[in-house]
Formats: sequence, C-alpha cells, structure tokens
Amino acid sequence: MTRIGVIGAGIAGLHLGLALRAHDVDVAIYTDLSADAVAAGPLLNTVAHHHHTLERERALGVCHWEADDYGYGCHHHCVVGAGPDPVRFRGDFEYPSVVVDHRLYLPRLMADFEERGGELVVATVAAEALPRLASEHDLLVICTGRAGLATLFGRRADKSPYEVPQRRLSAGIYHGIAYPQPTGVGVHMSLGHGELLELPITSREGRATVLLFENIPGGGLDELVDRPYSDDSRAYERLVLDVLEAHYPACFERVDRPSFGLQAPRDILQGALTPIVREDWAIVEDGRIALAVGDAHTVVDPVNGQGANSASHSAWVAAQAILDDYGFDERFARRVARDREAVVLGVSDWTNMTLNPPPQMVELLFAMASSKPVCHPDRQADALATPERTAAFIARWSGAG
Ligand SMILES: Cc1cc2nc3c(=O)[nH]c(=O)nc-3n(C[C@H](O)[C@H](O)[C@H](O)COP(=O)(O)OP(=O)(O)OC[C@H]3O[C@@H](n4cnc5c(N)ncnc54)[C@H](O)[C@@H]3O)c2cc1C
Repeated sequence: MTRIGVIGAGIAGLHLGLALRAHDVDVAIYTDLSADAVAAGPLLNTVAHHHHTLERERALGVCHWEADDYGYGCHHHCVVGAGPDPVRFRGDFEYPSVVVDHRLYLPRLMADFEERGGELVVATVAAEALPRLASEHDLLVICTGRAGLATLFGRRADKSPYEVPQRRLSAGIYHGIAYPQPTGVGVHMSLGHGELLELPITSREGRATVLLFENIPGGGLDELVDRPYSDDSRAYERLVLDVLEAHYPACFERVDRPSFGLQAPRDILQGALTPIVREDWAIVEDGRIALAVGDAHTVVDPVNGQGANSASHSAWVAAQAILDDYGFDERFARRVARDREAVVLGVSDWTNMTLNPPPQMVELLFAMASSKPVCHPDRQADALATPERTAAFIARWSGAG
C-alpha cells in the first residue's frame, strides 16, 4: 500500500493530506507545532481564501466558515497620490472570498485529518532525518513553509527577480473599524509609500479587521515595522491612526477612535519576506525524491493575497498526481511541476510585477474594475508584459475585441 509522508501542517500539507485521505491513501503529516500550540501562538498570516480554494475545501468537506456567513464579495479600491483627490472604485467578485484566522483554521483541519484516519506526528523534522523518512515512505512532500527545509530546493533565478524584500509588513487584527459597505476588502494604495489591505477577518473574538500595511522600504512608513508594538502599545496604535489619516483616508473615515485598538498583543506580525521560486523537487536518498509544495516551493508577497491559494492549488495537483501515478520518481515530479505551473508561476510572476508595476498596470486596474472577465489572476503577468499586450488583453476579455 502506498504511504505518503508530508512534512508541515499548513494549508499545503493539510489540503494534500485530506485530499489523499479522501481516497484512503495512507498519509502521515509531521509537524513541529501541535494544534493547541498553533491556536495559542502568535499571528501567522492574514489569509483570504478565494473561490477556487473554497471549492476545494467544500469538496474535502472542510469548509467550516462558509462564504454565506463569513464571506465578502468585493474590493474597495482607493488610490492616493495619482491626482489631487483620491481615486476610488469598486471591483465586485463573481464568487465571495473568506478570511479566517489560521490559528482557528489549521487546528480545525488538523482535527479533520486525524478524524479521517490520517496520522499526525508532532515532531520537528531536521534535514538529516530526511533519508530515513524517505526510506519509510513511498514519497516525501515538503510543506514546511518559507523557512527551514525549503532550502533543500534550489532557487530558480529565472523566476526569482528579487534578492531582498520589496515590502516591509505590519499585519494586525484590530477592533474599532466599521466595515465598508458592501462588506469587502479595502485595497488602498499610497503611491510611493505602499499599500494597505483592510480585511474583514473571523478571529477567535469574532469579526474584526486586519490592517496589513505593505510598506515600500524607505517610503516613509518603515516605523510601522521598526517600532515593536510591545514597546508601547498606545504609541503604536497612535502611529497606525496617523498613517491611516495621512495615507489611507478611505479606511480612516470609518475608524471609531474610542474603540480602536489591536485585539491582543499576540495579534500582530511585523517583518518582511523575499519572494522566491524554488526547484520543484530534490533528491534526498538513493534516487528518492522530495517534492516541494506551497511556500516551500513558491513564496509570494501577500500584496495580492495569493500565497495560500496557490499552495492549496499546488497541493491539489500533487494529490491528483499521487492518486493517478504509481512510481514516485523524477518523471512523476516533472508531471506535478508541469500541471501546476500555469497557476503557481502565473501567480508568482504577477505578484512580483505588482510590487514594481509597469505604467500599464493602472489601465489594467481600471479595466478590471469595470469588467469581471478581465480579472484573471494567473494571466496578469502575461497581459502586462508590454503596453500593447495589455491593450489587446483588455479588448479581448472585456468583449471589445
Ligand atoms: C501577513 C501575511 C498575509 C498573507 N495573506 C495572504 C492572503 O490574503 N491570501 C493568501 O493566499 N496568502 C496569504 N499569505 C501567504 C500565506 O500565509 C502562505 O502562502 C501560506 O500560509 C503557505 O502555506 P504553507 O502550508 O505552504 O506553509 P505554512 O503555512 O508556513 O506551514 C508550514 C508548516 O510546516 C511546519 N514546519 C515548519 N518547519 C518544520 C519542520 N522542520 N518540521 C516539521 N514541521 C515544520 C509549520 O509549523 C507549519 O505547520 C499571507 C502571508 C502573510 C505573512
């Protein structure tokens, strides 16, 4: 009987494990944090689950936060610095998305995985342990996120344009901000300074708001990252309000000052990440391969809210290939690479481009706001390659060409 070893219990490892358990495949997930440790720990991320991911969750029977109750259906855009007044427009979705704190989400899926006969082993896996683990399984899949075992897989220079982070991040869960109507994500841009993503999240205290500041290094807002919240929480919250007022007025106008504040000290994450695409697989022992899935394979900046969705897609493709194939060799790994590249690399290219956008990005944004068929996350990079291509893309998908 085929036995698969998955290392890491983030969305990638869990979606893969659950998809395999749905077909009675023997799976063990090795992870360094128990469900209780994840639930009690610091903010991990602020993930928006989009329609295709929700559809996979529905197919797996793990969509515990349904879009009808927890979702939102649009983006409220506000661009500051493009003219004398902020430019505002709304983009409605065809299908809703959901933001749920992964400290609720992952433990719940870990329980689902165990209830369905999956083996969850709480243990940190060191690189030296991989040959032994490889000999105990037919295939190892590395889903350990952007740190640690990811370094097993070589960096793909052709797909990794950056050596350093392009944004410095401050993500926190706040109370005291009314949702925009209709409920949606605020996508705020302050040209030359950065972006703010304002997300309606379901957290352990119920509905709240994520403020994810994406600060351009040296763009005047670095203090949001350099000043630790724990040093002086009141001063930090005053800083956030000052930044909202100066750069993100469409959010600031909905703040209720008396009730404004971070939900709890462990609900903030300050730092930065470098986008990278790594090789799809590595040889760990005697010709045996380890497959990279999720952030272990591709890290994108959260500015477009795509990393976890891409990780889920990648897990789904890997699960399908495992179910279809019988030899887990380089031929198998090449198939996974091929089957996921349009989405996974498309999302990565597009996000990397968003971080330093070409001028035609503005034209595409406006077209996306008025025509849903133009919104193709996996095709944007291709569409933005040249101004002529952008114009042709808009004409084609807006039905004009
Ligand atoms: C602020 C922020 C906002 C974001 N917003 C979005 C968004 O809106 N939409 C979106 O799609 N994505 C978003 N992302 C990206 C998203 O969080 C990641 O792409 C996604 O969580 C990656 O999932 P993963 O399963 O690959 O890795 P992870 O979630 O990092 O999981 C890795 C797992 O491996 C375990 N592990 C690590 N090392 C070991 C080891 N040596 N041994 C055993 N276990 C180990 C960890 O404990 C964890 O369980 C955001 C990220 C950040 C930081």
